[in-house]
Amino acid sequence: MKWNNVKSDISAFQLNQVVLGWTCLDLLRLINASRHFPIITVSGEVRSKILAHLNSSDVELGGLLLGSVVSSQDLDSGIVVVNVEDSIESLEFESTSVSLSMGSTVWQRANAAKRSNAFVVGWYHSHPDLGAFFSGTDRKTQRDFFNQQYSVGLVIDPVREEECWFSGPDAIEIAPCNIVMPSDIGPLSYPSQSLRLLEQTSTEVLDLAP
Ligand SMILES: [Zn+2]
Repeated sequence: MKWNNVKSDISAFQLNQVVLGWTCLDLLRLINASRHFPIITVSGEVRSKILAHLNSSDVELGGLLLGSVVSSQDLDSGIVVVNVEDSIESLEFESTSVSLSMGSTVWQRANAAKRSNAFVVGWYHSHPDLGAFFSGTDRKTQRDFFNQQYSVGLVIDPVREEECWFSGPDAIEIAPCNIVMPSDIGPLSYPSQSLRLLEQTSTEVLDLAP
């Protein structure tokens, strides 16, 4: 299945529909809280599912993120919120501590699991004890397979308890304040920029076959 082939039958929730009934104050709060779009929302249930998967092994694991998009325009521009509503772990993979290969069935399973208005909005993977950063290979993966404006990439180091989120074809890092999660769980700590730059010299091999 070609990743881009699934785009035609999906669409964003329109912002004016979502905020119908909101007060002006609520709308201003949303705008103020989302100066660096998009906002990412993740339920505690999905977050626990992802962490349980990534903590199940000390080798690199990954999968796809399913969800919906709220936009002031369409899926190509004006993205305001990306709701991560489910995750599909890749069962077929060959991995070492620094590499990951996801087979095509994870895409088929994601397609089967998606509900109306929910589709593949991104991917996640782990960097066990390597630090949470996007390597050059990760950036290439994002550009090749998750290259929509709404596409998000999540990397978690379950050992150091770090995470980073990226969005769009250029894998722009999303500010931690734009990650909305239940307060009792909260995001893992973000590594310092200098630490991440240092670790981007690490070698990583990743191969995806959508
Ligand atoms: Zn990586």
